[in-house]
Formats: sequence, C-alpha cells, structure tokens
Amino acid sequence: MMQPKAGKTTCPYCGVGCGVLLKKPTSIQGKIDSVVGDKEHPANFGRLCVKGSNLSETLTSDGRLATPKVNGENVSWSTATDFIAKKIQQVTHDYGADAFAFYLSGQILTEDYYVANKLAKGFIGTANVDTNSRLCMASAVVGYKRAFGSDTVPCSYEDLECCDLLIMVGSNAAWTHPVLYQRIAAAKALRPQMKVVVIDPRKTATCDIADLHLAIAPGTDAYVFSLLLAESHRHDVLDVEFIANKTDGYADALAEAILASPSIDVIAKTLKVDRALLDTLVKWWLDTPKTVSFYSQGVNQSATGVDKCNAIINCHLATGRIGKEGMGPFSITGQPNAMGGREVGGLANQLAAHMDFTTPGAIDLVQRFWNAPNLATENGLKAIDMFQAMESGKIKVIWIMSTNPMVSIPDTAQVKRALEQCELVIVSDCQEVTDTNAFADVLLPATGWSEKDGTVTNSERRISRQRGILPPFAESKHDWWAITQVAHKMGFESAFPYKSPHEIFIEHAALSDFENNGQRDFNIGALKALTKAEYDSLMPIQWPVTPNSLNGTQRMFSDGRFFTENRRAKFIAIRPQKPQLEVRDRYPFVLNTGRVRDQWHTMTRTGKSPTLANHTQEPYVELHKTDAERLGITHKTLVRVFNETGEIVVPAKVASSWLVQQGQVFVPIHWNQAISSKAVVSNLISQIVDPLSGQPESKHGVVNIEPV
Ligand code: SF4
Repeated sequence: MMQPKAGKTTCPYCGVGCGVLLKKPTSIQGKIDSVVGDKEHPANFGRLCVKGSNLSETLTSDGRLATPKVNGENVSWSTATDFIAKKIQQVTHDYGADAFAFYLSGQILTEDYYVANKLAKGFIGTANVDTNSRLCMASAVVGYKRAFGSDTVPCSYEDLECCDLLIMVGSNAAWTHPVLYQRIAAAKALRPQMKVVVIDPRKTATCDIADLHLAIAPGTDAYVFSLLLAESHRHDVLDVEFIANKTDGYADALAEAILASPSIDVIAKTLKVDRALLDTLVKWWLDTPKTVSFYSQGVNQSATGVDKCNAIINCHLATGRIGKEGMGPFSITGQPNAMGGREVGGLANQLAAHMDFTTPGAIDLVQRFWNAPNLATENGLKAIDMFQAMESGKIKVIWIMSTNPMVSIPDTAQVKRALEQCELVIVSDCQEVTDTNAFADVLLPATGWSEKDGTVTNSERRISRQRGILPPFAESKHDWWAITQVAHKMGFESAFPYKSPHEIFIEHAALSDFENNGQRDFNIGALKALTKAEYDSLMPIQWPVTPNSLNGTQRMFSDGRFFTENRRAKFIAIRPQKPQLEVRDRYPFVLNTGRVRDQWHTMTRTGKSPTLANHTQEPYVELHKTDAERLGITHKTLVRVFNETGEIVVPAKVASSWLVQQGQVFVPIHWNQAISSKAVVSNLISQIVDPLSGQPESKHGVVNIEPV
C-alpha cells in the first residue's frame, strides 16, 4: 500500500477555507491519526472548528462507492465513460446541445470546475452548467456585479478584526463559519469597544458576542439598509467627494431609500423591533466610519436577495466605506470552493474567467483561447430552471457532481420527477448510497477529501491548495479525469490533454490573463508559468495575482476604480419588499432554515462522525414555547410540519437557549432521507427564486404544525 504523506491541505467544509495539517499519518486503512489547524494558513492561523478537527472520523471506507456502475452493474471506467460519451453525442445530435447539463458543486475543486465548464460551453456547445453554489451565494454575485461591474469581494478577513463596527446580517457565523466567528470574538475581547450587531430573526449563538441584536421580521433586511442610507443623508455623514467622483446613481438610490424609510419609527414598525434598538444601530452606523457589513445566506436566500445585497452596498458607497482597512460590504460564501467555481465560469450565466456572455469581446476571446469548435453564446439554465427543464423533457442527460439535489434543491417532489424523467442521470460521488444516487443510471466513484488534488478559493479571494495526501479509494478517480476521459471519447482529445491538475491550473491562470488589459477583475496571470513543483508548494494567495501584485491583493477598490465601463461604482435604487409568501390561517408559521453547528450539507460526510453526531442527534423543528403550549406540543413531541409543497415529520424542539420568535419555526437543512425518512426540509421549500440571481428563497416559507 502507498504510504500517505503528511501535509498541508484545506478543510472541505465551509467558505472560511481553513488550512489543515494532516499529522502522524499511517497507512493503516488509509486512516489519518490526527488533523490539526495549519498555523501558517492566513485564514485560520491554526484554529479549527469542531467539524474541521474531527475530519479524521470521516475518513472511513464505510459506504464509499468503489467502482463505476451502469444500471446497477459494476463496470470498468472505460465502459462507463464510453457509455456516457455515446449518450451525450446521441442526445445532443438528436435534440441539440442544450439537451445536456452539468449540475456541479462548491465542493469540487477549481480544476474540476474548469474542465467541466470547458467541455460543456466550448465543445458540446451548451451553457447548461450550474451548481449548488446557486443555492448559496448567487444573489451576492449579482449584487457585486451590479455595483462594481464585477463579482469582486472587496474585503479580507483582517477587516473583520480591525473594524470598529461589525454588522452581521443573515449569518449565524458562530455555527456556519466558526473560525471567522472565533477571530471576531478574539478581536472583540482585545478591543471591547469594537461593536458587534447581529441582525437576524432568530437569537442564535452568534448573539453571544453581540452588543446589539435586532430580531427583525423575516425578510425585512433591505428596510434596515434603506434606513441607514436615508439617515446617512439626513445626518450628513456622506462621503460627498467619493459619491461625486467615483460613483453613479446616488440621487435615484437615495430617493428610493427616503421613500422606503420616511422615519425610524416607520421602519421600527416594519421590522417589528424596538425603536430604541434601531436608534442605537443608526447612531453607531453614523458615528463609525470603520464599519464592515458581513452577510451570508440569510440575505442571499431570498426572492429579493440581490436587492438586499445592493441595499447594503449602497450604504458603503454613500459613506466611502470601501477599499479601506476595516471597511466594506463582505459577502461570506457557504462552501469551500463556491468562489473557485465562479472564477472558471461555473454558473450558467457566466462564460469563463469571470467573463459573461455579454462581456464585450468575451465570446470571441474564449473561442480563440480554447480553439473551441462549438462555443455556447448565451446563458444556460440556472439550477431551478435546470431541474424544471429536466422534468419537461428538454434536458435529457444530466451529470451531477458531488452534490445531493434530492436533499438540497427546494421542492423534493419536483426534483424526483425531474430525475425520473431524464433519459440518463450520471452521478459522480464518493458515497454509494445517497438520496440522489437512487436515481442514477451511471454512478462514478469520485476521490474524496484528502485524495483530491487541486485548488479552492475561500471567501476572501484566497486561493489555497487542497492536496491529495491519501491514495484514491478503490477505483475512485478525480472528477477532472473522468470528464477528460469522456471528452476524449467525444473526439476532443487534443483540447483535453491534461495529465495532472497542475496543467489545468496553469491553463486557467493563462485564460484569466489572456487579453486582460486590466478591464476584468479576475486575473491570476502571474501564476500561469508555475512549474509543477511550484504549483505543488503554492502558498495561499489572494487574487488578483499579476506582475504588479505578485503577492496577491488584500483589499480591492482602494484606488476608487471599479470594473464598470466608466470605472465608477453604481448605486442601485432599491424598493424593499417583504417575502412573497405570507402567513395565513392555513399556514400560520414562518419557516426558516439553516445549518446546525456540527453537520455539513446533506450529512453524507459528517454523518460518519460519531463525535459530530453528539451535538445534534436528530432532526427537529424548533418553535417558541408559547406556540408549543397552544398546540399541545412538548419538547420531543413528534410533529408534522406541512404546507402546499410537502411535509416532514420530526421531533419538536421547544426553544430554549437559541430562540425563535413566536409565529416562526426553524428546521435544519441537513437530514437526508437515507438517515431519517421524513426529515428533508426541501419538502417544505417552494421553488420561488430571485428573478435576477435565480437563487431560491430557502430562508422563508409558510407552514402549519400539528402533533402526530
Ligand atoms: Fe472547516 Fe469552516 Fe470549520 Fe474552518 S471554520 S475548520 S473551514 S468548517
């Protein structure tokens, strides 16, 4: 057996992107004795949360998919990839290129994403390449693009530590991004005068360090930031010079903000919060130039998520609080490589390297760079549209990679119909049994964390190596390799000559730099000549990485120049809206969803860890004790939660320390059908999406509850 090497890699869970050291490796069953934080990694400086520090418990062969399967039969890789290539050729010949789609994941590596995107968009000729990152941060992407002309996160983690006011909105970072939370808590302990505000309908663990918690009515976040913009104007704390010289659209945005928030009293009523608390937030905002607004899925997973993001960004533009130490609107991504996927163009509305189909000259540029015979020229289908197109028969072949849409995509019944309708469902996964694999015609065993080799990008634009330390399990292969084999069998051998992730990465870096005269934000051209040894030893680095920024770029927009055509940032006029679904007699509770501290996504990996299972042992619906009493529900009572989309049956958790408000319930997202047959919360989420980003409104539904 190959001896695994000790080494540095990164955690495969959240978007913090912590560096991990696999210590004292042995070759016994590929087991790693201990996993510790990498003290040299700038995301975590040695810290790990409980998920990261228990990674070794997930490194078991239990349940791993060992060999390719076609229609349930074990086959060779050659047979499986032959079968896939022939079927893609047949359906795209008979029905057109858009009969094929990739549905990818923020769990796969940048190199995997790059090859999938290139095959689909450049060679098959479809832009039907979307990802579970659509469910996580698509609204933040569109918000940035509308304001800055590019999908550029301006801040760094250090800004969270050196700001004087941190506004955390729609984020339970204590559980979802624990190491960032630890860094913030440590900074606050050193500088108690640093103020932390949490804006969240729930009282979460993150409130432990909050000086102020605004438990706003669900979905009303944009009203808060319209108020802050209007009050900045009323109290004259604007950066008039910055607005005049660096931005467009201020007057219209201000007019809408004033219309939406005529007074603090009116907004306090809309938010259903105490007026005095709102006064405090306004005062701190007005008095504190060094402010970071930290936002996550609570903002993004909304039918108006993009507007919410722009309402936040507007406030920072109006006060010039961007591009400077301790300031900025900072979207924190959920997954370890949501950002790396965006970098290669792994969204249906992107082409490649942060270029859209509408970016002037991009189609011609990418066609020439790839020498692509069949370049897609317009947007493909975003995640929800993709599954609807599968159900209606427009998409015939779907290749799902490293994600479990039967648990994570809203409206599980629709997803089931879509998968059943497809002529061919290909799933690449580490595990043999998942809710989605049950619908697969072809199963491809994928390498997992500690075996995969490539790069990921975390929430602060930092590219890190995720290294292959253990040998691949059984016959599992890297995702980029599987795609490459299919590409060869479709006749595209010369365009997919890759033998290693290094070759893919330097091509990706070269494309980011190709005819990029500084008009595009994403540029890692200085890495395009990396040798394999240099790639293998690449230290974490924040893009852009160009000849002018060889050590990377900590903070963006310090020069006040953006990536719009005229280099000025854009205010967006926002009219805040409440969620589409309102509570009514039949469905009197607002449903909120989210993560628990010690599980990840659909539990196919964290579900293997006995230590992680200790924190939350079963699914639940959390509700306020007054509501529970009225319904005759006690702690642990089995209850049915239902609405027009579907139902779940789970134990009740009558709120104690982490409180939901009266009239609201919270259900965690993790439990899959294979573990708990009636706990998949996507049964309760409708497919309402933000029309600009396509991101589903997973944070807001309406339900009823009854004891079983
Ligand atoms: Fe992993 Fe996120 Fe925990 Fe860091 S904070 S160890 S990246 S789960």
